[in-house]
Amino acid sequence: MHVTVVDDATGKPVPCRVHFRSPEGIPYQPHGHHDHVNSNLNTWHVDVGGDLRLGQITYAYIDGTCQGWLPRGEVLVDIARGYEYEPLRSRVYIAPGQRELTLRLKRWTDMNARRWFSGDSHVHFLGTQGAHLEAQGEDLNVVNLLQSQWGHLFTNTEDFIGEPTVSNRGRTIVYCSQENRQHVLGHLILWGLKRAVMPWCTAGPDEAELGGTLEETLAHWADRCHEQGGTVIIPHFPFPNGEPAVLIATGRADALEMIGFDNFQHREYYRYLNCGYRLPLVGGTDKMSSEVAVGQYRTYAYIPPEEEFTYENWCKAVRAGRTFLSGGALIHFSVEDAQIGDTLRLPSGGGMVEVEAVAESIFPIHTLQIVQQGQVVASVDEPKGANRLQLKTRLRVTGNTWMAARCAGPNYTAVPHFDVWRRGVFAHTSPIYIACGDRWSLFDRGTAQYMLTLIEGGLAYIREKAAHHPSHHVTHHHGEDDHFAYLERPFREAIEAIHRRMHEEFRS
Ligand SMILES: [Zn+2]
Ligand SMILES: [Zn+2]
Repeated sequence: MHVTVVDDATGKPVPCRVHFRSPEGIPYQPHGHHDHVNSNLNTWHVDVGGDLRLGQITYAYIDGTCQGWLPRGEVLVDIARGYEYEPLRSRVYIAPGQRELTLRLKRWTDMNARRWFSGDSHVHFLGTQGAHLEAQGEDLNVVNLLQSQWGHLFTNTEDFIGEPTVSNRGRTIVYCSQENRQHVLGHLILWGLKRAVMPWCTAGPDEAELGGTLEETLAHWADRCHEQGGTVIIPHFPFPNGEPAVLIATGRADALEMIGFDNFQHREYYRYLNCGYRLPLVGGTDKMSSEVAVGQYRTYAYIPPEEEFTYENWCKAVRAGRTFLSGGALIHFSVEDAQIGDTLRLPSGGGMVEVEAVAESIFPIHTLQIVQQGQVVASVDEPKGANRLQLKTRLRVTGNTWMAARCAGPNYTAVPHFDVWRRGVFAHTSPIYIACGDRWSLFDRGTAQYMLTLIEGGLAYIREKAAHHPSHHVTHHHGEDDHFAYLERPFREAIEAIHRRMHEEFRS
């Protein structure tokens, strides 16, 4: 059978993922694709790329055409393409002698036309070309493919070229960059590197090589990235939690990433926002196998009409906080005429503001909420689930604050996807900041104290627990005489910065 999947609007073949099976459940996947992705043994590098498995269903990524055997009679067809197309689940009848089958996929919304461009913040193991194919199959604009080290395994080294690759067949960009990892201090995503930042991982297993010593901190990795004009993301925030507080206190984190739906991570995010740190939110998958779709969690970033869709502009939009995380749903949010990432200015006494949010989704959503400084201040609920929820209300603002919109399942719990981690369907915007008076600022003494505790813990790890060469036995890469002073410097800067803020707050 020669199968073509066409876009209903254009009549042209459209990249997507397909699954065919008989009514008895026998899969008939296209030539060159697995009937069942081999992933039961929880190993890496088994059936990575070209296929996707959700639950017990295996999908093949195709460019819009494929060829393979289909049985005569009834066949079940299951096709999807990201979150802006209606998934197609239907039965077709294959007649004797039939050699052609055309199926139609319908786009229900066009976020690119509204200048929102989607990207996965965090992908491993795919090749560059494979990332293009799968991104097109998932209607995803950007893939941040990250080389890294896993003990004695090095992945995607061969894909690093220090610039983006742009597909000529679609609007997809793949940029191979890095995730640097340290098992206690934390992991760090460096987007848009032109030159590698070494060492990739440090201080022994699991992340670095056996027998390794602590040679680097996240803060220094972040600085090497910023020197090149790159973007620094704290992945799977906040874990590992030894250094994120340092990065945030010293302004080294451009954005925080969520790769799952988790209450604790929400609270941690809100805590830092409440302490006056402006932190954009990004979504990604940390994809390491064919058991999660590239872009299943994705970052939508807004690029204004006068700017081109390029990798650089996409990263700039993320750094400006013009983002929302989509784990299935799409969300629009405004406060007065301020959009996501903006600062709305009010007189020093505050005032009433009009808040509007709309959530739309191919999956049922049950709750749409407005969060102000970590508290839900407005909500609409549809217990049966809906594909569209809308909220429009007026709220009183009395001082500096932030608001964000979020949507998910019943009472803001998560209805799971069928990927290997059963991640929840949800969406969450970055904040709109509201300044009453001339300057936006917030401070929370509890958070400042909490950050100092985390930072002291990081310092104790560096001094007491991490593996080190005896001093003056080796020459370190940074060339400084005092290795401990080098490692501890960003932590001391962070403590100073937090104390400065505490004193300012005390005076005012
Ligand atoms: Zn990581
Ligand atoms: Zn990762």
